[in-house]
Amino acid sequence: MIIEPKVREYICTTAHPKGCEESVRRQIAYVKSQKKMENGPKRVLIIGASTGYGLASRITASFGCGAATLGIMFERPSNGKRTATAGWYNTAAFEKFAKEEGLYAKSLNGDAFSAEMKEKVIETIKNDWGKADMVIYSLAAPRRTDKDGTVYTSSLKTTGDAFTEKSLDLKNNTVGEKTIEPATEEELKGTIKVMGGEDWEDWIHALTEADVLTEDAVTIAYSYIGPELTYPIYYNGTIGNAKKHLTESAKRIGKNYPVQAYVSVNKGLVTQASAAIPIVPLYFTILYKVMKEQNVHEGCIEQIARLFEDRLYNGSVKTDEEGMIRIDDWELDEKVQSEVRKAWKEVTTENMKQYCDIDGYWDDFYHMFGFNYDNVDYQEDVDPMVEIPSLQA
Ligand code: NAD
Repeated sequence: MIIEPKVREYICTTAHPKGCEESVRRQIAYVKSQKKMENGPKRVLIIGASTGYGLASRITASFGCGAATLGIMFERPSNGKRTATAGWYNTAAFEKFAKEEGLYAKSLNGDAFSAEMKEKVIETIKNDWGKADMVIYSLAAPRRTDKDGTVYTSSLKTTGDAFTEKSLDLKNNTVGEKTIEPATEEELKGTIKVMGGEDWEDWIHALTEADVLTEDAVTIAYSYIGPELTYPIYYNGTIGNAKKHLTESAKRIGKNYPVQAYVSVNKGLVTQASAAIPIVPLYFTILYKVMKEQNVHEGCIEQIARLFEDRLYNGSVKTDEEGMIRIDDWELDEKVQSEVRKAWKEVTTENMKQYCDIDGYWDDFYHMFGFNYDNVDYQEDVDPMVEIPSLQA
């Protein structure tokens, strides 16, 4: 099959197995070019391990620390006619590279919110490791089925009044305006249920009860704050409220369970989850341009490598006064943000090339699905049916 990208607004419905392998290979190469971390974690569970920040975490733990990893994901295999999802191909590639280096890597595909998945993970840890010393929670999901069968949906809306701001139309590459309506009570509650910390707490509860965490285990979940410019849609919106819940969960986990729990506030980056947030893509294109000009731009892998090397496993854990780890420091640096604010004021469809890194945005977007790599032959007939070795076991 010749696989081409099929883009529908903010998602690509196809993925390229060889391109996804290239994406994983490059991330591994980056981690290997950094100093090896001797005192890093050794047995790591990653919930949401197949794309974005979770995949970068899995790669950093394995190839930076030599850790064994168990990755949880919700991905779709190919049926021969339709390609698999990018996360499926990423995971197949990750396992292949891990095996080449003799690193333990197993993956479980299914719903991380479910009790069945928690049981499967516990069984795997008991059988294979005894105990895990790190749990990374990197889920970004559109919905969650709760224990009683209720389905909660996550929304990307503001709270309070409707909010109108400049926005990038990704289909036509134009700058216009977008109005975001405030969420209803139910939408806000749904977003907190899906993207807040309740399920993270459930995981740590289940893992502690089953006695599969080491005494010095660390758990970390990822958050975002961003600049005031995007507060109405992010920080003070439905998703920001869910993230505040996540921060409270970290405090509860640290108090109620014998683990160290942290929230790491990461940089805003194009991922499958963030491409769907209105207004944010225009901010990202401007941010990319400014950060690249100032030589401080990072992708998921550079962010997570810095999180491990600098904040988590370099002596004591480095947090702000609120107890949060901040690897969004370069994004929120006033030197960067003052340029972003200037550009935001000026940007229009006509001058967007001057202020926005549109090519960089699309490059990252296509790379997420394995496209746009100059060393991959996209004319080659490839088999979309790729197996994930550990899922066959
Ligand atoms: P992503 O879409 O790339 O990754 C989501 C992961 O969750 C995938 O591995 C997917 O398979 C998995 N997943 C989704 N639903 C699942 C389910 N029901 N069961 C099991 N696995 C499931 O997203 P991302 O941007 O890497 O986000 C990860 C975390 O990082 C989120 O909490 C997000 O809010 C946070 N974060 C993202 C950004 C950003 O700009 N992208 C910035 C800061 C923090």
